[in-house]
Amino acid sequence: MNSIPKLAIHGGDKTKTTPFGTGQRFGAEEAKELLEALEQNTLFYHFGQKVKTFLSDFNHMYQVPYSVATSSGTAALHVALGAAGITVGDEVITSPITDQGTVIGILYQNAVPVFADLDPYTYNLDPASIESRITPRTKAILVVHLAGNPCDMDPIMALAKKYKLKVIEDCAQAYLTKYKGKLVGTIGDYGCFSTNDFKHISTGDGGIVTVNSGLEEDYHRTHAFADKNYRRMGTDVSRAPESLAPNYRMTELQGAVGIAQLRKLEWICERRSQLGLALNAGLQDLPSLSVMSIPEDSTCTYWFYMFRLALDNLTCSREEFCAALSAEGITNRMGYIPDVLYMQPMFQQKQAYLGSPFPFELSEVHYNRGDCPNAETILQTAVQVPLNEFYSDQDILDIIAAIRKIALYYGK
Ligand SMILES: *Cc1c(COP(=O)(O)O)cnc(C)c1O
Repeated sequence: MNSIPKLAIHGGDKTKTTPFGTGQRFGAEEAKELLEALEQNTLFYHFGQKVKTFLSDFNHMYQVPYSVATSSGTAALHVALGAAGITVGDEVITSPITDQGTVIGILYQNAVPVFADLDPYTYNLDPASIESRITPRTKAILVVHLAGNPCDMDPIMALAKKYKLKVIEDCAQAYLTKYKGKLVGTIGDYGCFSTNDFKHISTGDGGIVTVNSGLEEDYHRTHAFADKNYRRMGTDVSRAPESLAPNYRMTELQGAVGIAQLRKLEWICERRSQLGLALNAGLQDLPSLSVMSIPEDSTCTYWFYMFRLALDNLTCSREEFCAALSAEGITNRMGYIPDVLYMQPMFQQKQAYLGSPFPFELSEVHYNRGDCPNAETILQTAVQVPLNEFYSDQDILDIIAAIRKIALYYGK
């Protein structure tokens, strides 16, 4: 047994002896754009040029005809749902492993989230499970490309066509992710992005919705839904809303930072893909864990790196594995969110609005432990390692070495 090195948690040598790479996300480029924004003497998107330039740069990068800027990723999703016509009593099928922001807009439209199960190794929606959740009330599928990994869009788009459903893509974690050569966010009816401070690029807070139909009226409706349902196009302004919409406008300050951030996006995504693939290559032969699988002919831009422990092949628990990994100097956490979304009190008590069962009472939907067994197992066995574009190649080698050391020690 001498060949098995002593774990740091047992007093052995720590694997990671150098600090992880870090870097400056913001610099002179952002400052220059911000100063120009202030010099415009207006910070209102409709009067200034920064949000407009940010969007036209984004449209060019994504090769989409139209997009709309919003105040957050959550807002982007709500805008897409509103523009797609999602309304009272509709059902929207989505993933149980995601950020809260995915379901907020559904409930604010007084529609009902319905959770479908995931593929055990891509951690993304399983088309067969989506189909099993479709009812006459279903109006949309809100797919989440988790951690920068694309959902299996071909069968999902086929379902949407068959059942006449809208498809909204939550791309908050999936910048420049490609599914079979196509950028995610350009495949469904709408693609929603977040520029909150934890995403690939940051404007502090902010979001973008792509409008993929190419129809000008769809663009105008989406644009209006982020701005009180006012129609504000060029000098043509109408303030006569036919229905309710929030104010989710992006300011010129965010737009200015966004312009400079977009210029860095390709580099950021390329580097993250490289680092993620290097981790996969260094870990995929271990029988005690499984790396996240990526659909064929597709890319992942790794917002984080998550793998699953095969606990049957280990003599330790996930808690012990993660504690040992921390002791080796590798930051990590168990799973991603504490539990599947439908186990939150809000869903268990069917209370979106304090003291009211509305809109849940409009649907037959129920939320029970066991509804999405793969998703529940993913959260019980996953280990997440943060990753960012500033990590060095040595950082990745150290993460691999630490995980291999622990897997070897506890492997059956
Ligand atoms: C971050 C995130 C959101 C919400 O974005 P905000 O800008 O924080 O509102 C929505 N969905 C997913 C998958 C996210 O990661």
